[in-house]
Order: sequence, then C-alpha cells, then structure tokens
Amino acid sequence: MLNVPSQSFPAPRSQQRVASGGRSKVPLKQGRSLMDWIRLTKSGKDLTGLKGRLIEVTEEELKKHNKKDDCWICIRGFVYNVSPYMEYHPGGEDELMRAAGSDGTELFDQVHRWVNYESMLKECLVGRMAIKPAVLKGMLPKSQVTDTLAKEGPSYPSYDWFQTNSLVTIAIYTKQKDINLDSIIVDHQDDSFRAETIIKDCLYLIHIGLSHEVQEDFSVRVVESVGKIEIVLKKKENTSWDFLGHPLENHNSLIPRKDTEDPYMKDSYIRKNINQRRETFIFTFNPDVVGLYYRKCQLISKENVTHDTRLFCLMLPPSTHLQVPIGQHVYLKLPITGTEIVKPYTPVSGSLLSEFKEPVLPNNKYIYFLIKIYHTGLFTPELDRLQIGDFVSVSSPEGNFKISKFQELEDLFLLAAGTGFTPMVKILNYALTDIPSLRKVKLMFFNKTEDDIIWRSQLEKLAFKDKRLDVEFVLSAPISEWNGKQGHISPALLSEFLKINLDKSKVLVCICGPVPFTEQGVRLLQDLNFSKNEIHSFTA
Ligand code: FAD
Ligand code: NAD
Repeated sequence: MLNVPSQSFPAPRSQQRVASGGRSKVPLKQGRSLMDWIRLTKSGKDLTGLKGRLIEVTEEELKKHNKKDDCWICIRGFVYNVSPYMEYHPGGEDELMRAAGSDGTELFDQVHRWVNYESMLKECLVGRMAIKPAVLKGMLPKSQVTDTLAKEGPSYPSYDWFQTNSLVTIAIYTKQKDINLDSIIVDHQDDSFRAETIIKDCLYLIHIGLSHEVQEDFSVRVVESVGKIEIVLKKKENTSWDFLGHPLENHNSLIPRKDTEDPYMKDSYIRKNINQRRETFIFTFNPDVVGLYYRKCQLISKENVTHDTRLFCLMLPPSTHLQVPIGQHVYLKLPITGTEIVKPYTPVSGSLLSEFKEPVLPNNKYIYFLIKIYHTGLFTPELDRLQIGDFVSVSSPEGNFKISKFQELEDLFLLAAGTGFTPMVKILNYALTDIPSLRKVKLMFFNKTEDDIIWRSQLEKLAFKDKRLDVEFVLSAPISEWNGKQGHISPALLSEFLKINLDKSKVLVCICGPVPFTEQGVRLLQDLNFSKNEIHSFTA
C-alpha cells in the first residue's frame, strides 16, 4: 500500500508549495491528497450525479454549471463535473472556479498541460460538448476546419519515399540546417509508423499506417548540409510496394510545440495543404488534440547513488529512435492503483566520467535518470518498486533550453540544488567537450547534507582532470565538522561565486532546483545585473 502522509499538504516549505511556473499550491485538508482522490474514484461513488450516463452538453447547459457545488468544465471537448474534485485540487478551489461553466482548455494548458486529466477525472466525465465548430477546442470535425492561417512557402517541410527490393526509405526535407539526430523521434508499432521532427518551434509529424510489414529495427541518417532526414526501414518481404500507407491522425502536420518561446507559434493553428506523391492530405490539424507520445521502456538497471537517489537505466524499444536533447526533460508514466500518474524527469548521461561506466552502452538505446525517492511521495516509491525487466512509459522530450545558448560561450555558471543537478549533467559533459570558446565552468551545488550530494566523487575527479571546472558544495544542514560553504542561496554567496575577471565575456548562468530556490536565484542574478539572455532557469 502507498504510504501517504496525512498532515496538511503540502508540508510547510515543501517543494510542493509552489508549482511550476511559480503558481502557488494551497494547503489541502487532511484526507484530500492525490492518493485519497484516486481511492474515491475507485469507490464506485457516482461522481457526476448522472449515474454513469454520458450526455451531450450544449454551451448553454455548460454555462449553467458554474457554482462550486455544481461545477462543470470543458477540456478538449469533454465535459467534467469537477465539484467532487474541488477539495483535492492542488491549485485550490478558486483556480478551478476560474473555468467553471466554460471551456477550460487554455487555462489548463497554461498551468499543467501534462497532467493526465483524462485518467484522473474519468469518473467525473459528464459527456461531450455538442459540436459547434470554431468554438470548441480539440473537437473540430475535419471537414469544417477552415484554413485561415495556412502558410505556404519554401520553408515548409515535406516528405517523400522510395524503395529498393529490400528497403523503404522515408526522406523528410526539413528545409532547416540546424537539425541533428536529436531532432527526429521515430516509433513504429505493428503497422503504425510515426516520425516527429523538431523544426525550430514546431514539430512536423509523419503518421502512417504502413501498407506492408517491416522489420523491428531501422536506421536514421541526417544530412545536415541540406536538412534532410532519412529513415531506412527493412521490408519483411521483398515485394514492391504500390503506396507507402494510409494517413493516420495528424499525419503531415506542422504542430506548434507547447514549450515554444515564440508567442506566434503558441497561439496559432498552422495548417497547410500538401500534395505528396500519389497522396493529397489536407492539414486539418488542431494543436490542442496533439498530446505527448509515450512508448514503453524496460528497466535495465537501478543503482544507489546516495541514500535516497538512484540511477535508473531504461531501454527504448528496438522500434524507437529517441535522443533527449541537452536541457530537456521527458515525462514518466506509471499506473498507480489503476490511475495513470505522470511526472517529469531530466535524463542524464550514465556518468560524468566515461571511465566510470564500462562497457559504455550505446546512448541511443538507453536513457538514464537520477531520481530521488521520496518515501512519502506518490510516484517515486512506485518507480522504486519496479523490478528489472518491468516497463515504464516515457514521453517525447519537452523543454525550451536551446543549445545555441552555448555559441561562443566563455564563462558558464551552474547553480544546482538537490536533483536540480540533473540538467547540469549533460550540460557539463557538452560544455567541457564541445565548446571551443569555453574558458571556465563553475558549479555551485546546494544540498542539505554531505550524504545528499549526487556524484560528489565524480565531480571532484572531473574538476581535478579539467582545470576549467570548479565545483563548490554548499550545505544547508551540515554537521558541525563541515568546513565548506553553508547556508542557502544568498547575495553574498552568489556575488563571490559569479566573479568574472574579464569584462564583456559571453556568460551563461543555468539554475535548477526547488522552485523557491530557482525563483530566488533568478531574482538575485537580476539584481547582479545579469540580463535575461544570460540566465536560463529550468522549470517544467
Ligand atoms: P510527491 O508526491 O510529489 O511528493 C513530494 C514531496 O511532497 C515528498 O516529500 C512528500 O513527502 C511530500 N508530500 C506528498 N504528499 C504529501 C501530503 N499529503 N502531505 C504532506 N507532504 C506530502 N526529480 C528527480 O529526482 N530527478 C529528475 O531528473 C527530475 N527532473 C525533473 C524535471 C522537471 C522539469 C521537474 C518540474 C521536476 C523534476 N523532478 C525530478 C521532480 C519530479 O518530477 C517529482 O516532483 C519528484 O520525483 C517527486 O515525485 P513524487 O510523486 O514521488 O512525490
Ligand atoms: P532538497 O530539498 O534536498 O534541497 C536541496 C537544496 O535546495 C537545499 O539544501 C537548499 O539549499 C535548497 N533549497 C531547498 N528549499 C529551498 C527554499 N525554499 N529556498 C531556497 N533554497 C532552498 O531538494 P530536492 O528534494 O532534491 O528537490 C529538488 C527540486 O528540484 C525538486 O523540487 C524538483 O522538482 C526540482 N527539479 C527541477 C527540474 C527542472 O525543472 N528541470 C529538474 C530536476 C529537479
């Protein structure tokens, strides 16, 4: 059974007090944790008041249900009675009431787009909205979508395919030069083939039901100079294919990424008519219906790193190509007592020093995570209970960190607290090997005690090996013998740490940790006259 604390939630000063993006969470009453909610949904109680009936809801009807004890909200065309959930909502009742009797899709996406509300609220489902085109998000029937924002032009991606006796090659023309193997994610299961190509702030999706069977493994090549990606599939039978397959949902769409920083892309629907060889598909894409794609990965190993933090290694399915870009995170999904729970985690490399891991596993098939187990948490104890060989679903990557921030970089400062160290792992590896202009990297790593420091000896060895790297540990609850730095992030600690000897050097400061730590750090950096471009804070 899951051990869920019963005091007011979140605990005072807990990371749970503040949600991502700085949104405050409210104290929940005793017996109102997420686990309690899951138990209620399994109790068989009629949570909609409709005795299991699903109805079609008109806009007029929706508007009437706008009170706390009778509150309906529409998300992506589905209407939920959220009154029973009010007291369990970590963001509080008032936050939920902002969408009472209306379409809450936009608000939901702004605050916690990755929460799997379908699973969490399935017992609250009242029904679907009665179709009213151009009003409902995520419910537009394809035939009624007008192409008002369609963009034509040479910069739009396209694809083509060709074959030999034994191979089928799908070529994606991104029309961008800054693509690499991180830019393409391929999954094929049974006859369904998906390729997501990340092109600037968009995702170009190829989604096809293949006309013939192919083998599990395939190869991916990138021709950077022309922005072309080639996916080479092996036919199961050496026959000639007349056509590649039939289009599946959102095939051939250019989709704005949810984590884009570009406000135009955030708000627009981008659709386009494309003529493909023997196939004409119409872009009837609605970004609201495109969620993150998950694939099942197998737990290969789990090793203790500190008393409460483990290094998990997951293996991607053979029919997947996925490399998580530096600074990005994925979501892990597990069923917990019948409800799918999703939490974000930042992949790391298997170690900081290559000699620590022998033999080195090919990094395109394995994903590593450093994860702290909170014994009173919801997700991590379940993750910790997984046995080698068990499966966990892993999403496509998300995040707005751009590797272009490293261009011409001279001084890199990393401020990490606790597991906020995770994005710094790949950053450190990359910075010390791939940035020729780099002069200095300084890591200030905040932890409660010495026992909490992740990969301390690897960090010390790396700093010894590479003189450009300095590492300082700061403890907030040290034992009296500790003679290093102590305390919390503060103006004094930062101004000493961030001293730059040469004027006008190109600087980047990355910061990650509990939300109050990150928020305070960003404020202090601004006070020290670091510009917005010189600061990157990691949040969900
Ligand atoms: P939660 O259930 O969220 O609990 C966390 C804490 O709150 C615990 O201390 C628990 O005791 C307390 N709590 C929970 N319920 C109650 C209650 N009813 N009353 C009082 N206290 C309560 N973490 C990593 O370890 N590694 C990563 O790489 C990583 N990457 C991340 C990337 C991003 C972008 C973000 C936003 C977060 C990341 N995290 C990472 C944090 C991770 O997503 C989870 O928040 C973390 O694992 C805790 O999840 P949990 O469900 O086990 O704990
Ligand atoms: P922790 O509780 O062990 O604290 C580590 C250090 O953070 C403390 O020693 C202290 O110096 C500092 N700290 C903690 N609370 C603070 C506060 N209220 N104000 C100022 N400083 C504070 O940390 P943990 O349990 O390892 O938690 C790590 C956090 O990092 C989690 O909240 C996790 O969600 C977050 N995280 C975020 C990302 C991301 O956004 N990309 C990635 C990984 C981890």
